Amino acid sequence: MENSISLPPFYVGQNVVYITGVNMALNSTHIINEITPSDCGCFTVGINNIPLIKKYGLFICVVCGKYTNTDSINGWAASSFRAIKEQTFPLLTYSKVIEKELVSAN
Ligand SMILES: [Zn+2]
Repeated sequence: MENSISLPPFYVGQNVVYITGVNMALNSTHIINEITPSDCGCFTVGINNIPLIKKYGLFICVVCGKYTNTDSINGWAASSFRAIKEQTFPLLTYSKVIEKELVSAN
């Protein structure tokens, strides 16, 4: 059996960069406010607080080229964005906070 579960590439609130430069400025930054799978399995995102609009009609996915005659989603292809590399913080370790148990020496 084929496993068709795919994880969303982004999370709501994530900062992303537009990497195609076709419909907006190349490398412009945006914030994900919605993310949903299309019927073909590709993900559509809403950005900058603009909600996704679902419509009924012929839907041709710009990512995979598959078309269906079901609900289409008016939004942005998730594949047109990449995540902004988030700042990495040094891993906290417990090596510096090891406390020796005090033993009563009565
Ligand atoms: Zn697709």
